[in-house]
Amino acid sequence: MNLILLGPPGAGKGTQAERMVADLGLIQLSTGDMLRAAVAAGTDVGRQAKVIMDRGDLVPDEIVVGIIADRIEEPDCKNGFILDGFPRNTAQAKALDVMLTEKKLTLDAVLEIRVDDKILISRIEGRARESGGERSDDNAEILKKRLAVYHDQTAPLLPYYEAQNRLKVVDGMLSIDAVSKEIKKALNA
Ligand code: ADP
Repeated sequence: MNLILLGPPGAGKGTQAERMVADLGLIQLSTGDMLRAAVAAGTDVGRQAKVIMDRGDLVPDEIVVGIIADRIEEPDCKNGFILDGFPRNTAQAKALDVMLTEKKLTLDAVLEIRVDDKILISRIEGRARESGGERSDDNAEILKKRLAVYHDQTAPLLPYYEAQNRLKVVDGMLSIDAVSKEIKKALNA
């Protein structure tokens, strides 16, 4: 099974992806994790990506599309994968469609973990208050920026996948366990 997890920053995609890895035996492909690994390793891509990530913008499509194209070639992806954080805009979604067709792979479902903005913003501000200080205020601003980028660039993927009849919406405001159950239900439906 090949899946996409969509949802705003702070929706719990990473947590749910980890559980799906354990329960369904899928591989999690997180472009955020891959980019952070490149930053930590100090590669050219990492150096380029760091500045962009730090300000809450999206890194260029050719970088992430290239990373994913290479990664899904790996043998461990044969049993299925969860894309977490990719695609993040329409150009990436179209590049993914081409990639999957070329590799004769199918996309089984796109799961949207839906969380209201009000709740996300209060989570973001709560976390900033907990950690305190000026720097954390910056972090709250960056997170709000990332939320704006989500609405602007990533949310248009919802009607895109709806039109492909692949979109399944899950309530991300429930408990972690309840969200996992909803995901299972959506995948079995
Ligand atoms: P989240 O906290 O929402 O899970 P991620 O870890 O997925 O965030 O992503 C962190 C940052 O990495 C993003 O803000 C963006 O700068 C960059 N990034 C990750 N995936 C992509 C992508 N598919 N396209 C462009 N930039 C990306």
